[in-house]
Amino acid sequence: MLPVIERQPEVAPRNKKEGGTAVPSGNNGGHVGQPHSGVAERPKSSLYQNVGVQFNRAADVMNLDPDVRRILGATKNEIVVNFPVKMANGHVEMFTGYRVQHNDALGPFKGGLRFHPDVDLDEVRALAAWMTWKCAIAGIPFGGAKGGIQFDPAKYSEAELERITRRFAFALGENIGPEYDIPAPDVNTNAQIMAWILDTYASTVPSHERQRNIHVVTGKPVEAGGSVGRDKATGQGVVFTIQEWTHDHKIDVAGLTFSVQGFGNVGSWTARLLTQLGAKLVAVEDVTGGVRNENGIDPDDLLRFARVHGGVMKYPRGDFVDHIMFMKTPVDVFIPAAMENQITAESAQWLQVRLVAEGANGPTNPEGDAVLQRRGIDLIPDILCNAGGVIVSYYEWLQNKRSEFWELEEVDRKLHKRIKAAYGRVRDTAAELGVDWRTAAYVIALSRLETVYKERGIFP
Ligand code: GLU
Repeated sequence: MLPVIERQPEVAPRNKKEGGTAVPSGNNGGHVGQPHSGVAERPKSSLYQNVGVQFNRAADVMNLDPDVRRILGATKNEIVVNFPVKMANGHVEMFTGYRVQHNDALGPFKGGLRFHPDVDLDEVRALAAWMTWKCAIAGIPFGGAKGGIQFDPAKYSEAELERITRRFAFALGENIGPEYDIPAPDVNTNAQIMAWILDTYASTVPSHERQRNIHVVTGKPVEAGGSVGRDKATGQGVVFTIQEWTHDHKIDVAGLTFSVQGFGNVGSWTARLLTQLGAKLVAVEDVTGGVRNENGIDPDDLLRFARVHGGVMKYPRGDFVDHIMFMKTPVDVFIPAAMENQITAESAQWLQVRLVAEGANGPTNPEGDAVLQRRGIDLIPDILCNAGGVIVSYYEWLQNKRSEFWELEEVDRKLHKRIKAAYGRVRDTAAELGVDWRTAAYVIALSRLETVYKERGIFP
């Protein structure tokens, strides 16, 4: 059953400085499970419908209040900006950037910015909604948002990338802010990009506010106010959840075999941290290709190779594997840490694993989920598994507000405690309700949001 569509009060995005289209929710788009203009012509754009399937399943199981269902079934604000950037050759190129703010009932909007040719409104809507659920499950006081620019950053020079980033931040204007909407790194963005956004934001607000804005972004370089432990945080969180799973199944992490799809920040950190615990990395795939070695791959060595050669393809201490061979590699744990929709009805049949730990956002579509369940493959869902990144973003934000610097040991200890508690809640809810773990995770998130809406009521 899809949510009933009702027009929501329109909330205008704040004071945009750049020309662009601001799309308040409630008109054509932003409702989960509802095709919006563009879906039919663009088959890729099914991600937000995937969110709708997941959301409706959980809402049915828990009998979510119909009013809250209507509210959470729509995004709050959708900001689209088209902006010009001067290129190295002297010409101007136009770029399209997005920021979707799904919900802020639990706190300021929070979520990453990605630079990728596939970024579009549908994808960003889905990713924003997943951030709402993720923050709610982790018990941190943030809502959900996501954004990005539709382009391939690999095709631009460092200086062009800086101008594109700064111009995007300027175009977003006061639609982001340290107590309003706080971006962070995501696919193809990093601490350097966050530093440029911080600097642009701080340079364009009134001078008396400039020193008070450091928490407008998280995932900054440590010297610019970032937190130690943020860079590895998503991978560290993935590893902590896998450790909980091994503990529950009385399996030793040492000796566990695993494969990783994607060797960016999340994939490479997860591989390195798991290997440090004695697990064996057997196969890795990234955009350039796949590599496999039954005797184990040293992730530090592979990372050095990938940095020089632009990817894992042609790594000499392993055999080349194509995508299907990679997916069919028998391992204990498969960690998708790249893009969405990788585990489908078809590819879920190929996996020969006991556990899928979702380092990426949305790597499994609803048909893939059904096959994994039928085959008895365990799954730690994205909105739990990869929450380590936003959890440590919260710690960075807190440190900035309090002018503090925490030690790595303190950041890790707090992350471990929080993600372990969230894992326990999802596991216990799944057992109690007799549902799959993704649905259980949604039920926890939706219950928390339902309570807040009931307590606060709807203005006016
Ligand atoms: N982009 C990360 C995610 O998808 C981190 C978001 C954040 O730290 O705000 O969870």
